[in-house]
Amino acid sequence: MASIFTRIVQGEIPSYKVAENERFYAFLDINPMAPGHTLVIPKQETDYLFDIADEDYQALMLFAKRVAEGIFKAIPCKRVGVAVLGMEVPHAHIHLVPLQTEADMDFRKEKVQLSREEFERIASAIAESIQ
Ligand code: AMP
Repeated sequence: MASIFTRIVQGEIPSYKVAENERFYAFLDINPMAPGHTLVIPKQETDYLFDIADEDYQALMLFAKRVAEGIFKAIPCKRVGVAVLGMEVPHAHIHLVPLQTEADMDFRKEKVQLSREEFERIASAIAESIQ
């Protein structure tokens, strides 16, 4: 069965898209740790990040770097934090989180509630900031 993220890539499930090319897709996390929390995924479904072939892995990381640069421009923050867990969704994904403090990257803390309008505004601000 296709992962929820494959269904997002295929347009079956909506997402707040931030960036896309033929191989990779970036969209806002629906339960963000901070406004601008973004997930970067390969369109080709692989569960575990480190099972991805070397060349695809390098290209994914470079794509994530471009997205992180866009987040940094669009969202006031000190750093963009990077994490990979994959405990919930079995489709490799990189979390990019705008950080003011270390606590912004605590996966156990209460998530930020945003309206649809706020998600849309943040997604387009990041999208416009990506080179
Ligand atoms: P993990 O697999 O532990 O890295 O966590 C999966 C992440 O995916 C969580 O931060 C969820 O909030 C996020 N997530 C799950 N479903 C969706 C969705 N439909 N759209 C955006 N983010 C999602």
